[in-house]
Amino acid sequence: IAPLPPDLEPEQARAAGFVIVGGGIAGVTCAEQLSALSPDDPITLLSASPLIKSVTNFRQVGRAMEEFDVEETTTDALQKACPNVRVVHTLVKSLDTDKHEVYTEDGQTFPYTKLCICTGGQPKLITKDNLHVIGIRDTETVQHFQQKLSNARRVVIVGNGGIALELVYEIEGCEVIWAIKDDSIGNTFFDRGAAEFFLPHLTAAKCEEKKPLKRLKYTHTEPSVASPKREDAAMGGALGPDWKEGWRMKGKQDQSAHQVHVEYQCEVQEVLTREEFTRTGQAAENFPGSSRTEEHNDDWPVYVLLTNKRLYGCDFVVSATGVVPSTGPFLHNAQFSVSPDGGLRVDDHMHTSVPDVFAAGDVCTASWEPAPQWFQMRLWSQARQMGSYAAKCMVADRDREEIDMDFCFELFAHVTKFFNYKVVLLGRYNAQGLGKDHELLLRCTKGLEYVKVVLQGGRMQGAVLIGDTDLEETFENLIINGMDLSPFGEDLLDPNIDIEDYFD
Ligand code: FAD
Repeated sequence: IAPLPPDLEPEQARAAGFVIVGGGIAGVTCAEQLSALSPDDPITLLSASPLIKSVTNFRQVGRAMEEFDVEETTTDALQKACPNVRVVHTLVKSLDTDKHEVYTEDGQTFPYTKLCICTGGQPKLITKDNLHVIGIRDTETVQHFQQKLSNARRVVIVGNGGIALELVYEIEGCEVIWAIKDDSIGNTFFDRGAAEFFLPHLTAAKCEEKKPLKRLKYTHTEPSVASPKREDAAMGGALGPDWKEGWRMKGKQDQSAHQVHVEYQCEVQEVLTREEFTRTGQAAENFPGSSRTEEHNDDWPVYVLLTNKRLYGCDFVVSATGVVPSTGPFLHNAQFSVSPDGGLRVDDHMHTSVPDVFAAGDVCTASWEPAPQWFQMRLWSQARQMGSYAAKCMVADRDREEIDMDFCFELFAHVTKFFNYKVVLLGRYNAQGLGKDHELLLRCTKGLEYVKVVLQGGRMQGAVLIGDTDLEETFENLIINGMDLSPFGEDLLDPNIDIEDYFD
């Protein structure tokens, strides 16, 4: 247990209170949980974004599976619900871990007893300072994207994670060139089989009308404390599960069908201006499969040369290649242990390598020995879980009490939607880290469902469930119980066997 700061007596230490940096899901959940556990202690939440995130409609759908919505809310709402929480809209600039003080850009000093860093991440851009290359992270960046898209005939999307997947599905009235380095789409979340299941939906017209927004959404025109264009600027909180709803993703062209072309197994070699493109002397590609006989390929604002040597002109590029943890303000004076992915390393009590400093959400890297079926992925479910657990650890640390790890870190579980299908990912759903010694069971009904089970030594290690399969709770239990399923063989996925009854 970390000692109290040497120059603070226990009473003074209590007065300095808890400080959290970041108004995203991790930071706000941490503040709420701290307030519930320690209602008489001062808690200060410092956030660069004027609006903060809050988790609503939380539903525990299994032992580790959860579903919830994320809303942008005003700081008043949090302060009203948690009277001992004070939210300050400010940009944190640096930290003195010896003095236990946080400093902000507008000259304020915040002393702390225990600090939790929840500053999230920033999009990892394929190239910096290029007006034609944008990332998507918060409300401001989506607005920027939407504005650019409304005048665009063609966009190049780079990356194969969740954001890219959602964008290629949502964009209408604009040609999309999707460049991925893998041999199948969406491989952060699923395998080749599941990719094949989704592929027809890339080009099919969407049957669903955009539904009206199911709840009030706050929007804010005032930018974050510092403009995101600046090197050291902080962004707003990452968007929530329904970030695309209510945002029109329509390009300049009339047709509403999807026009998506996937370039597999390639990366961006170079982003070129029109002048640089002209100097290459290379011809730019037409949109593959386009019925137009004549294309003007010399008047695009920007050109993208891929490593497979194909060259495309486009209106702009979306770089959706992951995030870099936002650790900048904290690394000047303090000796944090930082993982190769740029995150602040935390132990199994969300404690960084620096006394009295904790971290949660996208900014941290879980550096404990994980349970066999859990791993870190920068998702809102984990941001919530880490924020909540960090609060418990901070209070226990201050009170010098022992605390067990939350159950949610026993099993990786993510419930989401892709292409309008429910998607549940459990455990080592892509056989991550299992080597070759595993087997897969598959069940697929085209357009309806895709079920994959990963088994090792007869025991279920993970599963991918796409569609309304109703299998998630049973499979979650089977993974947690570690039951030997070898006697069932392929019957496990036989649609004529009610597996739920079987294992009751
Ligand atoms: P953030 O939400 O990034 O919050 C960080 C906060 O810290 C912000 O309030 C910021 O203003 C503040 N801050 C930063 N620096 C400073 C500073 N110096 N001083 C003061 N304040 C500071 N996850 C999923 O699970 N499923 C998905 O389908 C999915 N899709 C996504 C789609 C998009 C477009 C994006 C951007 C993300 C998506 N994610 C998804 C990821 C998910 O949103 C994040 O993992 C999660 O929100 C991280 O929460 P966080 O609280 O750690 O960080």
